[in-house]
Amino acid sequence: MSLPRITVWNEGRHEKTNPVVQKIYPAGMHQVIADYLRADGYQVQTATLDEPEHGLTEAVLEQTDVLTWWGHLAHDQVSDEIVQRVYERVMNGMGLVVLHSGHFSKIFKRLMGTSCDLKWREAGEKERIWVVEPSHPIAAGLGEYFEIEHEEMYGEHFDIPAPDALVLVSWFKGGEIFRSGCCYHRGRGRIFYFRPGHETYPTYHHPQVQRVIKNGVNWVAPVGTPQITFGHRPQPLEPLTT
Ligand code: ZN
Repeated sequence: MSLPRITVWNEGRHEKTNPVVQKIYPAGMHQVIADYLRADGYQVQTATLDEPEHGLTEAVLEQTDVLTWWGHLAHDQVSDEIVQRVYERVMNGMGLVVLHSGHFSKIFKRLMGTSCDLKWREAGEKERIWVVEPSHPIAAGLGEYFEIEHEEMYGEHFDIPAPDALVLVSWFKGGEIFRSGCCYHRGRGRIFYFRPGHETYPTYHHPQVQRVIKNGVNWVAPVGTPQITFGHRPQPLEPLTT
């Protein structure tokens, strides 16, 4: 089967205003993610908040099998019309990978139906990410665990519905834990939430983080499942009288 066509979406505001972030991601974190996926043969385009329609026109989404989403400062500036457009695409089979602070994006909260709130602390502490579902495709190529030297802490309770599969759990040096790799099915679509990726750390340059994103993209990619239909069925498939 051919590789999924990917659109990497980024809010792109920290990169414009914070010199620390500019140094780590001079062309934006979306370019680092996109370049990594392109190097593996994927067809990748990028889109950012400040483009017309946030770069997510009907035409772009029609050519998107998997959308990745990073946002933080400006969730409320994403228009409801575009959120609805993305939502409908997911329900009709487009895969969605939600990264880090995307937990508070309109689209993720809409798909989860909960507050998606959590605990957090920005202290640059070590994060150890454990594979807790080793048979899952998103765990491919990972060890039993991998570590990120410096990250923001996200802690439980994370107010999400119980994931359909929980693949990764984080431990932080300060003692908290967090469900870091969560899989969901919504309509014909699949969603993968992946925790790491605070903007002031070089997390998206980390090889195992990149591997999880690639595995996540592959897992959420549409696989040609049947169209869903609803409503009144006056004509039975078989005659009701003999
Ligand atoms: Zn963060």
